[in-house]
Amino acid sequence: MVNFISKYAGKINPLSLKEYKDRGGFQGFEKALFQMSPSEVIDEIKDSNLKGRGGASFPTGLKWQFVAAEGASEKYVICNADEGEPGTFKDQVLLEGSPMQIIEGMMIAAYAVGATKGFIYIRGEYSKEQVIFKNAIEVLRNEGYLGKHILGQDFEFDLEVRSGAGAYVCGEETALIESIEGNPGRSRFKPPYPPQFGLWGKPTLVNNVETLANIPLIISGGAEEYKKYGTASSSGTKLISVSGNVVNRGVFEVEFGTTLREIIYDICGGIKKNKQLKFVQLGGSSGACIPESLLDLKLDFNVLKKHGIGLGSGAILVVDEETCILDFIKMTTKFFNHESCGKCTTCREGNRHICKIIDRIIHGNGAERDLRLMIEIATIMKESSLCGLGQAAPTAILTTLKYFNGEYMEHINGFCRSGVCHPKGEVK
Ligand code: NAD
Repeated sequence: MVNFISKYAGKINPLSLKEYKDRGGFQGFEKALFQMSPSEVIDEIKDSNLKGRGGASFPTGLKWQFVAAEGASEKYVICNADEGEPGTFKDQVLLEGSPMQIIEGMMIAAYAVGATKGFIYIRGEYSKEQVIFKNAIEVLRNEGYLGKHILGQDFEFDLEVRSGAGAYVCGEETALIESIEGNPGRSRFKPPYPPQFGLWGKPTLVNNVETLANIPLIISGGAEEYKKYGTASSSGTKLISVSGNVVNRGVFEVEFGTTLREIIYDICGGIKKNKQLKFVQLGGSSGACIPESLLDLKLDFNVLKKHGIGLGSGAILVVDEETCILDFIKMTTKFFNHESCGKCTTCREGNRHICKIIDRIIHGNGAERDLRLMIEIATIMKESSLCGLGQAAPTAILTTLKYFNGEYMEHINGFCRSGVCHPKGEVK
């Protein structure tokens, strides 16, 4: 475990500018503002090889460069704090314990891309974090870190908190933008991407909380220092949120290169009650279900990609041997069916049909052809849904069908090894 981006959270009063500065806070911003040009800041972020921590791992410096290249006089920086992926609660630790670090990241981003206005979109369920943020913004405004002529320079930036209202899809950047504009949270077609056409049609940089928390430390310490953490293809550290049948649950910061086995057995103390591990779901409900045989995989974007797996938000759900695959999948598919915004047919209808098929199998009315049908629907959803919700929704189905096909067949043949489903009658 390491304490790099999480070095402030829980150790300082989140609303004390003095305590934040005493531990190195605002050194990154002051270095950027007084010693670096905007393009030098972008180059440093590009050199650091930082990749987005919201789930998609898009190169951060490149995204900044896209926004900076736009000639518009009005640009925005948005911090995506709509942490809605089930099992994901890592941004909450930063939002609660280190708001100034995130705001500093946004200020550096604004300076680099030429934005003067920012929004932090915090999920509605994080009401305490919204209050902390509003107060932190007030403190920084009063101290001359936000507003016009920041630190006496010709640089202006201010920001506002916006609240989500419980819709999972609003974590998708274009639905989030629609929501800030006051419209229903539904994804837009991409391209154009937000760097070209974002909030109110203006060039907009959208970065996740954890991504922004890395920025002050990269700028203050330099990209070369930063790259000492992690692996050649995945620099830095990752906050992971571990939940499920594991002894120690919580949020931990690890270097890229750490294996899933090290996380589960060394950091989290292994499986509860000494049971066997069945699988881990990596990246929340939209992530892959990975069997025990793959636990030595390292957290590394390239290594995981070679196995067709994404790190996603860094959520790790640990599932023990007693869990029924169908019961688990029922929960996941119901979640996506409920959260689909309904705009595109493949996501709306695909989720609905998969739910019906899973119910059929659980109730003992499934057939082997249902498994082929689910693969067909899931593949169409992956390839043609409008946004990440529909594209990622069937990942759990596809990976459990790949690794636990036998258990699906057992249900089709009227047997549930966990005794949870009664395939010949009622579901308990
Ligand atoms: P994406 O790959 O479409 O885009 C990633 C980012 O790169 C976006 O900001 C996008 O605008 C930018 N981008 C990509 N190509 C670009 C281009 N050509 N020009 C300019 N910008 C470009 O992925 P996404 O739909 O934004 O995110 C999907 C991920 O979100 C999934 O992997 C999932 O793990 C994750 N997710 C996270 C949470 C959470 O709570 N953290 C919730 C749901 C999903």
